[in-house]
Amino acid sequence: MRQILAVICLVLSSFVAAEPIKVVASFSILGNLVQEVGGDRVQVMTLVGPGEDAHVWQAKPADLKKLSGASLFFVNGLGFEGWLKRVEQAAAYKGKVITVTKGIKPLTLKEEGHHDHDGHDHGKTDPHAWHDPRAVLVMVDNISAALQAADPTGAEQYRKNAAAFKAKISQLDTQTAAAFAAIPGANRKVVTSHDALGYLGARYQIQLFPLQGISTEAEPSAKEMAALIREIRKSKIKAVFAENISNPKLIDQIARETSAKVGPPIYSDALDTKAPANTWIGMFTHNTQAILAALK
Ligand SMILES: [Zn+2]
Repeated sequence: MRQILAVICLVLSSFVAAEPIKVVASFSILGNLVQEVGGDRVQVMTLVGPGEDAHVWQAKPADLKKLSGASLFFVNGLGFEGWLKRVEQAAAYKGKVITVTKGIKPLTLKEEGHHDHDGHDHGKTDPHAWHDPRAVLVMVDNISAALQAADPTGAEQYRKNAAAFKAKISQLDTQTAAAFAAIPGANRKVVTSHDALGYLGARYQIQLFPLQGISTEAEPSAKEMAALIREIRKSKIKAVFAENISNPKLIDQIARETSAKVGPPIYSDALDTKAPANTWIGMFTHNTQAILAALK
């Protein structure tokens, strides 16, 4: 009898486990990372969707509803989600907020032309850490720890999923480092729309010439554009890239006025709705292959 009860309990618990836990990720790239670790135990809803720009995003009522029904809220942090507090309040979200970049040493940028009154300029934190695979390994660990705490029954599964995913990320990082190392350092220069690829540049020693700052909000002035065009000619930069989330108009202007070629759009802050760039692996592979092809 006891054995039969145990079997019934086991069957029942497997039904209970079949109901995935509901979590929200602030943007599409992070949504994929959470899904890779969570597997089928987790239902991931995303606020800023594929092709959307998190820097200037505004929540709709449907977004607030996603959040109010979730038990975990994964965010990038480092100032990426400027709307975070407003959205939490509007959704009356009382669950845990997991900042996945915890433990990552962030890059800081000097913003040119924004000098403080007392003479020193403040570095600005670059939030786009997901372009460095080594930072993504830390994010995956943070996601795995949060899911294990929220759903201890699935702990073993989350650990396994995270380990398998991390192995793929590390392998991709090793291959990518070797491919960039084969290109002479002086040629490793690219122009991008906004300053989103700092972590990729730091990881593989690529010099970046962004049109905009680390947010997409401000467009460069005519004077800044002219200075950048001079710089591209002088440094013989071969490749310019537009992004999936921003207007390609300025990048096209640069290509017309210099000998630089426009590469395929880079996925900077959002995934695509379709393959190949609908996962972090696909996005990273596309971006690095596009840059490598342009620099060869
Ligand atoms: Zn950005």
